[in-house]
Amino acid sequence: MSDSQHEPTRAYDALAIEGRRQRAWGAQSTFRTPDTADEGRPRKYIKPSAPFTSGNIHMGHVRSYSIGDAYARFCRARGEDVLFAFGFDSFGLPAELGAIAQNVAPSEWVARCAEHMTAQLQRLGFSFDWERSFMSSDAVMYRWSQWLFLTLLEKGLVYRGTGNVDWCDTCQTTLATIQVENGTCWRCHNPVRLIERPQWYLRLSAYVPENDERLRELADSGIWDENALASQRFVLGRVDGVELDLRADDDGELIVFTPHIDAIADARFVAISPKHPDIERWSTRGSVGERLEELRSGGLERAARDAESLPVIETGHMLRSPSGSEPLPLLISPAVDGRFGPTAVLGIPERDSTDAVIAQRLFGWERPAQVASREPVPQSVPAGVRGAVRYKANDFSVSRQRSWGTPIPIVYCEQCGIVPVPHEQLPVELPLHMRPTGTGNPLAELEEFANSSCPSCGGPARRETDTLDCHFDALWLWVPVCVPPSERERTLDEIFALDDLRAWLPCERVVAGSDSGNFVFDQRIIAKALRDIGHLSFMDDGEPFAGCLFHEMVIRDGRKMSKHLGNVVDPDELVSSYGADTVRMASLYAARPQKSLNWSDSAVTHCHRFLGSLWRYSQARLAMTADESLDDDGASTEFLRARLQKWCATAIEKITEDVEQLEMHSAARNLIRLFERIKGFESRVLAKRGALCKEDLGAVLDALQLMAAMLAPFAPHIAEELWIACSGTELTDHIPWPTTVKVAA
Ligand SMILES: [Zn+2]
Ligand SMILES: [Zn+2]
Repeated sequence: MSDSQHEPTRAYDALAIEGRRQRAWGAQSTFRTPDTADEGRPRKYIKPSAPFTSGNIHMGHVRSYSIGDAYARFCRARGEDVLFAFGFDSFGLPAELGAIAQNVAPSEWVARCAEHMTAQLQRLGFSFDWERSFMSSDAVMYRWSQWLFLTLLEKGLVYRGTGNVDWCDTCQTTLATIQVENGTCWRCHNPVRLIERPQWYLRLSAYVPENDERLRELADSGIWDENALASQRFVLGRVDGVELDLRADDDGELIVFTPHIDAIADARFVAISPKHPDIERWSTRGSVGERLEELRSGGLERAARDAESLPVIETGHMLRSPSGSEPLPLLISPAVDGRFGPTAVLGIPERDSTDAVIAQRLFGWERPAQVASREPVPQSVPAGVRGAVRYKANDFSVSRQRSWGTPIPIVYCEQCGIVPVPHEQLPVELPLHMRPTGTGNPLAELEEFANSSCPSCGGPARRETDTLDCHFDALWLWVPVCVPPSERERTLDEIFALDDLRAWLPCERVVAGSDSGNFVFDQRIIAKALRDIGHLSFMDDGEPFAGCLFHEMVIRDGRKMSKHLGNVVDPDELVSSYGADTVRMASLYAARPQKSLNWSDSAVTHCHRFLGSLWRYSQARLAMTADESLDDDGASTEFLRARLQKWCATAIEKITEDVEQLEMHSAARNLIRLFERIKGFESRVLAKRGALCKEDLGAVLDALQLMAAMLAPFAPHIAEELWIACSGTELTDHIPWPTTVKVAA
């Protein structure tokens, strides 16, 4: 009996199968988050990334959510309580620009996008608890940002400063350091320049050393993958070295850092960052102050990041050399920041190529000719030198001159100055009818919003018309899904005290793209701040994520997918041609999460062929159970059945381990291999006695049922239909994850 005899009646109709399963999930609320009152069951909050709400689901989302969903389904199948839900990151520039392009209000645009993206994700069959999803631009949600802003402000962790900020002329907005890529705007890729402007800052630096310390504990825990750890180290930017006090010609002192303890005597100058906290003290001579001002307000073209064109200002100060040789000139240079943060460092041209360029330009320094076997000359370490660490991670501004963002809960009163809006008056609502045009800040031009009264004296006051960057929203975006929807309207103080919220934290696993390093870093900082303030005091180490997996992106022909290159793969088209199960499985099968997935149609056709063949084979074997003529005596093939059972036992062991490690590609391969084994068993039986006996058929069907249970996290629709058919029972819950092979009677 061959497969083809049963076509087309038993053809693999993905569309019909997926529709049936999705309707059943909906009717049974299969993925509703379990009640946390039920003690004793392991609980796992699995956190997918919060998508920007400005268009469509793309292949990167498909990959990311296929990994997270497979893990969530696996955990449920093992009897664990799972929270798997996300919120839309719906404020911010991308959404605002999308609204401008569509000529609609941003609120309308993001609502439309979220609806469309939700439908796409539902068609893919991801097991999110949609009742818990939310949009960060809804007033009940963005009050979280306002509450957090005020809470951190009270503790000095948000502060107002006048500072040098990166400014994009095209976008007419300030940018966070992380939004500047090689001197250009992350969004429009135009050059960025430094300007001076009053800003609200997040005092990230207060918790940077602890984030560093905890990172080592996370590395030891083993559930943070190497990609995720590397991203945290990168954002941290730790540099180990030494620091020393250098006396200046006017008797002042400056603490100077260097990573080169063995080359202190080779220092030729000292460079200080224009963002150094004491920079004003060193910029009083001659025209230095003016030149610094010039550098801040546009003289510094950030596009010119190559050392050749880096601006350098000579302060006129000389610092005593630590080795007693010639005094060292003090130079202001933004070249310090990118290497060591806003500090002061020894310039050692022999050790550092940037320092070499500066020394060549300013003093005609020349690299000494290479001496063949020059012994390193041991240098004596000057007195007062002590071990020190610098971090590139630093405070950043969180205010933006944009209208599609959380209003900052601050008013400016002529009498009282800067006055925070009291907590009980939150949220400060964003006017929704506003239509941004792409320039300036329409919120500042809207008198009904800007004119207000002072909460303190009642007199006339003006609202803060900057909004919070959506990066600020991201600081809390991981928390609200832990709140039952019925409790959402409560005050934030009440919400943080909820047993439910505490039961789900810390999050067991983050599954996100490798570009999420900054978000995760800052979320780890804020969790520690809220721990110390008291709201998250139950989290001793202040680590919100026990485990973390960062996967690489989906590319095509070795390049990033982009409309411009015309190499974009549309998930909707793939799903309508092959079905959701095939697309999901292909995105897992094609590559390890830690590697870029170079998309090709061969993975899709391969997985589609596998699922189709599994379907037809299973249907044909199920039909054989009605065959009365099957032989009863199975003794001669007993050893083959025993071997099949052994293969099944090995498959359980391997696939369980794969999924525990989130090595989904390996699990997919092992599933395909198991199917080959099942078919191989049948061929051997046929070779031996020409037909399956009843026991042989039973063994095949048991193996297929086992396979269906293990396929369920990856291709859930087809797997569940197969399992139902093989087991002969309806499915009202999750298929239990197999731990042992059913022993044939
Ligand atoms: Zn820009
Ligand atoms: Zn007042």
